[in-house]
Amino acid sequence: MPERNSAYVELDGERLLMMSGYSYLGLGGDERVVAAAKAALDLYGTGAHGVRALAGSLPLHEELEAEVAKFAGRDAALVFGSGYAANVGTVGALCGPGDTVLIDKYDHASIVDGCQLSGATVTRFRHNDADHLDRRLQASDPAGLRLVIVDSVYSMDGDIAPLPALREVCDAHGALLMVDEAHALGVIGATGRGIEDHFGGSVKVDVKLGTLSKAIPSMGGWVAGSPELIQHLKYSARPFLFSAALGPAQSAAALEALRILEREPERVAHTQRESARLREILSAAGMRTGQSETAVIPLIAGSDESAYDYATACRKAGVVGLPVVSPAVPNTLARLRIAITARHSTEDIDVAAEAFLTAARQCRLIGS
Ligand code: PMP
Repeated sequence: MPERNSAYVELDGERLLMMSGYSYLGLGGDERVVAAAKAALDLYGTGAHGVRALAGSLPLHEELEAEVAKFAGRDAALVFGSGYAANVGTVGALCGPGDTVLIDKYDHASIVDGCQLSGATVTRFRHNDADHLDRRLQASDPAGLRLVIVDSVYSMDGDIAPLPALREVCDAHGALLMVDEAHALGVIGATGRGIEDHFGGSVKVDVKLGTLSKAIPSMGGWVAGSPELIQHLKYSARPFLFSAALGPAQSAAALEALRILEREPERVAHTQRESARLREILSAAGMRTGQSETAVIPLIAGSDESAYDYATACRKAGVVGLPVVSPAVPNTLARLRIAITARHSTEDIDVAAEAFLTAARQCRLIGS
């Protein structure tokens, strides 16, 4: 039987400590979330049976959108079938030919795909480099809309976008700023509200977007902003208009998990504390952990082969750390992508640290 409420998983009959999951708040398998999903199944059945604009809208969707808007500190929100759909739909609806979208080199693929759908000119700037963005904006066409998009937390490196500097540059050029909070919700900020919360709350973005499939253990994507923005997306975002609505069980699970996050901010604090501790132990022993500041910690091995070998050695030492290799990351920076969750106890983190270091010594990533 899988251990639904545990940081351990069973793989080929072996019990292993999972260190590469996305359930940052440890809510995957939470009894309250499961009960909410079951109640929605009993009430509505298994599907929404239509797009939102036709037969697919349920009162649950509106309840979820109101909760997302409240959580994000905005007046309105819209829920999509996935985070991927939210990005593609939002970029595609906001921009068109004659506009410019400026994206960080490491932005998620769904943002890149949204740019393609939009038909706008796309410009990339160097990762987390506000000065380079400034030069790119300087060179862009001021006649059209200019939309800057960054991930709040980068999923392969665990570093955070420099929000205050980006805001300043956007304001200087009259550009809009959009953030993808996929790995920030429940992870950064004192109450897990993401990048604005992380930087103290005074610097705001224009469009906030995220997913319900990581810290929130469900499916779906969301966008939060002004009522005008949300109204526009309702009538122009193609994945919203032309794809079936989020199912009832997934909507109810997401709603319950968001409410738990609001009631139990200690989950966020625990994950932040244990992430910092693990990062310190590993980097003090010589592991390369990049620029990580969050629950996502890359353990950089080097070549793709080194990353696979290191993953195998970790598994022998009792932990699952999943390799990320080229082309997802440069081929000299292949790594294990580690993520800490509220399900990991302090003792689990100590066990993980020991296993990662033992395996690293065997693979000669650090000295013995
Ligand atoms: N944005 C980012 C930064 C992501 O990492 C992901 C998923 N890996 C998505 C968007 C897409 O979210 P979903 O899986 O809910 O479609």
